[in-house]
Amino acid sequence: MTRAWPGLLERGRAGMTDLAKVLSYLSKPSQISDHGTSCCTNARRWIRAFDRSAAFSHGNWHPPTWIRERYAWGPHRWPVAWCQIPDSEVLDCGCLAGVATEVFRMRGEVASQIQMVLRWSPLVAEGWRLMWERAGESGDWIRGGLCYHEATAVARDGCLAIWDPTESRWIEPDVAMTASCSGVVALNLADQAAWSGTSTIWGSAELRAGHWTTMSADDAAEQIRMSTV
Ligand SMILES: [Zn+2]
Repeated sequence: MTRAWPGLLERGRAGMTDLAKVLSYLSKPSQISDHGTSCCTNARRWIRAFDRSAAFSHGNWHPPTWIRERYAWGPHRWPVAWCQIPDSEVLDCGCLAGVATEVFRMRGEVASQIQMVLRWSPLVAEGWRLMWERAGESGDWIRGGLCYHEATAVARDGCLAIWDPTESRWIEPDVAMTASCSGVVALNLADQAAWSGTSTIWGSAELRAGHWTTMSADDAAEQIRMSTV
């Protein structure tokens, strides 16, 4: 952890403001709602059955790459209920993470959504902002090259693994900490209860459920804390 994020340090206060805004975009991860009736019960059953047929073979579960193969990534209007999922064609990262988290839990694993801030090229991010705004949705999840994102944290071998259903890949801590595109700037693990008795170590960072951890130099983290108060 505590590897400096050069962009943050060089961009000074303007960068801090962008990060503070993205950190406060959603106080909790997106939650797919349940009508409490057969429509949503059946939709969850459908997801469970689809997962088993697509990702269980030779006695082993495989990562749920089917989610992103089935759904395109793009803007989606909230709120979203489970019964809307099977027939949807496009899901945003919050929906995709909601489905992936449910899938890992249905398999019997300890899983919970994780909020993230990722760094992308500002030009690419600006394209996404336009995509959202053209669909009549807010593009406030993007500030400069910083993007709000959601994925699924899974307890594995005494630490955390992060499955990104939008990219259909595990986010590896050593890769995530570099200055490359889609670098992880901050993480916030949801659902304190899920992690009781479970390690929340991800790479060299220990995450605390309900608290943002910034993957940056200590002084930058301190300024972020001050700017988010
Ligand atoms: Zn429903």
